[in-house]
Amino acid sequence: MLFGRNKKNPIKIADKGIVKWNYSTCGYCSTGCAIEIGTNKDGKPVGARGVADADVNRGKLCVKGIFEHEVFESTGRGTTPLMRNNIQDEYQEAQWDDALGTMASEIKRIQDTYGRDAFAIVSTGQILTEGFYTLGKLARGVIGTNNYDGNTTLCMASAVSGYKRSFGSDGPPGCYEDFEHTDCLIAWGSNLPEQHPIIYWRFKEAQEKRHFPLIVIDPRVTMLAQNADMHLAITPGTDVVLMNALMHVILDEGLEDQDYIKANTNGFEALSAEVRNYDPTTAAGICGIDEDTIRHVARLYANAGVAMNIWTMGINQSTHGSDGVVGINNLSLLTGNVGKKGGTSLSITGQCNAMGTREWSSCSGLPGYRLLENAQDREDIGKYWGVDPEFFPKTRGLTQTDIFPAIETGKIKGLWLVGTNPMTSMPNTARIRKTLEKLELCVVQDSYLDVETTEYAHIYLPTAIWAEKEGVFTNTERRVNIIRKVKEPYAQSKTDLHIFNGLAKQFEQGRKMTFSDNFDEVFDEMRELSKGRLVDISGMTHDLIEQHRGIQWPYTEEQANKGEAPVQGGKRLYTEDATFRFADGKAKLIPLPFIDNNERPDPEYPFWLNSGRLVEHFHSRTRTGKIGNNNKYSPTPFMEINPDAAMEQGIQHQSYVRLVSRRGDAVVMAMLTHRVPRNMVFIPFHFFDCVNRLTLGLLDPYSRQPAFKQSAVRIESVNQAEAAQLNKESRAF
Ligand code: SF4
Repeated sequence: MLFGRNKKNPIKIADKGIVKWNYSTCGYCSTGCAIEIGTNKDGKPVGARGVADADVNRGKLCVKGIFEHEVFESTGRGTTPLMRNNIQDEYQEAQWDDALGTMASEIKRIQDTYGRDAFAIVSTGQILTEGFYTLGKLARGVIGTNNYDGNTTLCMASAVSGYKRSFGSDGPPGCYEDFEHTDCLIAWGSNLPEQHPIIYWRFKEAQEKRHFPLIVIDPRVTMLAQNADMHLAITPGTDVVLMNALMHVILDEGLEDQDYIKANTNGFEALSAEVRNYDPTTAAGICGIDEDTIRHVARLYANAGVAMNIWTMGINQSTHGSDGVVGINNLSLLTGNVGKKGGTSLSITGQCNAMGTREWSSCSGLPGYRLLENAQDREDIGKYWGVDPEFFPKTRGLTQTDIFPAIETGKIKGLWLVGTNPMTSMPNTARIRKTLEKLELCVVQDSYLDVETTEYAHIYLPTAIWAEKEGVFTNTERRVNIIRKVKEPYAQSKTDLHIFNGLAKQFEQGRKMTFSDNFDEVFDEMRELSKGRLVDISGMTHDLIEQHRGIQWPYTEEQANKGEAPVQGGKRLYTEDATFRFADGKAKLIPLPFIDNNERPDPEYPFWLNSGRLVEHFHSRTRTGKIGNNNKYSPTPFMEINPDAAMEQGIQHQSYVRLVSRRGDAVVMAMLTHRVPRNMVFIPFHFFDCVNRLTLGLLDPYSRQPAFKQSAVRIESVNQAEAAQLNKESRAF
């Protein structure tokens, strides 16, 4: 007899007493899932669910989104502003007015003493776009430092730079719907199931219906590679060589789209001349992919009706990051795969609002993809804000990765960190620690007091988290979606908008300008400034965005007035001939000579060090490290090592080892797996005092993004009991 065969025993879902579902957009990754947070009769967030009629996620959420209601009251939240004179002193609680007043007077002292650019600002990809826009107005129009950047330099700068070099502007041209039309997909350094699980689900659903080939290019057998038709385990840092070789075959065999090239591009001859140097035999010796496979992939890709490329950090976080993006764009342009259904070059963005900062924060220019280098742009924004255009710098200042060396050399004396945690996220932790200790003023603005960088701050400003405020995010496919307020800010924390506006009022120039606390009014300013720009959002309103579960830009006032549904807005960019953002409307094909400049394994440091994400965690675990159902599945920093290499080194599964690089060392648990080749170890990047103690982080010359994924290490044995104790103490929140 089969036990219980006739008895129904359905799973009982606990009644959490939810009385209201509040619409929002997930605050972790750039997929941009529409989410509803359930609150009980006391207004407490107690549940989360995906929004069924939202096109992005169609009711689904990943393991982070499902538990996102727990972030509001997770441990470590900051409750009140804190101040101290020296970083060796204890923090003292402060009133908001005092904290902002002291911050403003210290900024003025530093700028009066050392010059305007001696005070730097590093922001994030996590706050709402209305906050980004307002911070840009404050930084560019009031404080006037040119050393202002976002932490997106650590993740998306190469994509931005590559898009600008190829297409004349930032802005991913494709969308998730392209999965439903493509005939071939190449994923470069992108592990969708762990990094962007719901984009993976969109891809997988489309692929199961139409069975188009998936080719994954990654040195590691990632989860996506395990599900691929072909996995090309490339030698780290050599993507450009493989791209050139693929183009070599495409041109050699006449598989390019000459009509598209003639109508839409410049630079074909120079590119052809360069890729002639990369025949598959020569390229195979550098990139580690055999010549037959190179030829096969080139034919598969170029002969597909429409084909798409996607990429993430495996391309961006490299000394050739910007070139890698240009190389992908070259491939797409040569085969006419831009602006078509299923034919695109789509950067999969990192943080939930990395796109919002790119569009509106003024980090690398002025709002709405305007340039500091363009006199008309300076004039337009100066007039709109009520700022003398001469007050704006005429070229972009330092990026985040150049700001820290400028602190070392004494050029920068004050630093304001907004929602970013360089002690965990920047390469070479030991160097960052010493750098932060040199500052005369360090301000950390964060929702969490226990982020590692607060140890080096003089002023700490607690901020409202995600859905304790209202505003918009833009996701990977340019979809603007809204975050509605679920509850009031925690304890005495304030919204970013409130903090930026409060600080602006401390400056004479700020008092002359308009700084609104009303997020609708701020959005209206952005809409006005977007008119006629690539990033035109003038047809959107906050209510319309919620009604449509997000709207892709561009969506213009004209379209809205004509009654065009927002879905006809901006699914794709560059859909017509000659609509790229250079003066003649044509994109650039750019030759990419390969220069091998990475730190590489050698007899002293014989392993490549690779790093990446885990599905359970987000960035430096500030949030997911405190949520049981995220942290309990990945509580320990570990190292993947190939079993053959482990045997040679005498390393047991789940034993502790010490990894040593030229920068420092880190103790991790060994996990034996064939995911990594024999000469490579992989460590998740989320943990403090771990992988970034080892990384070198050489910078890309165009984007200034660090090469997190290409360093060399050796492995040493360690006392197991001491390592276990160290691990227990240092990982506990
Ligand atoms: Fe949130 Fe990204 Fe997961 Fe969607 S895929 S629920 S946006 S973390």
